[in-house]
Amino acid sequence: MFRQVSRRCFSTVKPFEVRIVEVGPRDGLQNEPKILPASVKISLINQLSQTGLKTIEATSFVSPKWVPQMGDNAEVLQGIEKVNGISYPVLTPNLKGYEAALKAGAQEVAVFGAASDSFSKKNVNCTSKESIERFRPIFEHAKKDGIKVRGYVSTVVGCPYEGPIQPKAVCEVVEQLLDLGAYEISLGDTIGVGTPGSMKRLLDEVLKLDKVEKFAVHCHDTYGQALANILTSLEYGIRVVDSSVSGLGGCPYARGASGNAATEDVIYMLHGLGAQTGVDLDKLIKIGRFISNELGKPSESKVNRASRNKEC
Ligand SMILES: [Zn+2]
Repeated sequence: MFRQVSRRCFSTVKPFEVRIVEVGPRDGLQNEPKILPASVKISLINQLSQTGLKTIEATSFVSPKWVPQMGDNAEVLQGIEKVNGISYPVLTPNLKGYEAALKAGAQEVAVFGAASDSFSKKNVNCTSKESIERFRPIFEHAKKDGIKVRGYVSTVVGCPYEGPIQPKAVCEVVEQLLDLGAYEISLGDTIGVGTPGSMKRLLDEVLKLDKVEKFAVHCHDTYGQALANILTSLEYGIRVVDSSVSGLGGCPYARGASGNAATEDVIYMLHGLGAQTGVDLDKLIKIGRFISNELGKPSESKVNRASRNKEC
């Protein structure tokens, strides 16, 4: 394992590129208790489009009965100014959502599977294997329609019901999504319980399944481990990182816990490592403040807070 790490270690590689998948407008806002008007979401995405980000997850085509925060999905997706070279994926839990997403102009969609059966049963009332099988029609349509499908695997290191998750369980879900045709798999520590130790054990197994370019990480910061977990993933050669401007979002299973890794903090760390992201940190910090003001809460980003103090 150590040999593998040192071979891939970022410090031995010359400048490297990392692509950020900004998930604030979807994963972030859907976990915020305050529901923002579509115009604010559109403004948020339009501002993010000017920072150099290449992927901005825009919304979710899930039933508003389940996620009222995303009830304006079509209005948001149709309302944003789409910039050439930027992908605006949307979450599609079923074929109905997929069709609505396409009608609203989606070019890329994402599907969600859990590594934990208990988590899957609580959320979608079936095992994770069954839930992913339900995505088959989406993949079949997407292939015909020329739409890219990203696969999320949630609870990759821990589950609120089962506790620690074995890498083997994650591998089964990853293989299923790759077989169906996912172009990229985002490994999600949905409840933010992972540590560099559990991330290493996970990546040691998962990266045997396919080339590292196929994988992204999605780390929540519940226990303050998100940046350490992302750094660990970079050491393994992962070059796609999900994060959320201002650390938007929370964790529905840990009240008051912080949400995703804040994009500002991830970018600050990456630039410090000499990585190229193409993202303008100063612009991002301003957007973080804009959306925090709209939500009426302080930013979760330490970089954002520190830069504010510096100006005082
Ligand atoms: Zn998340």
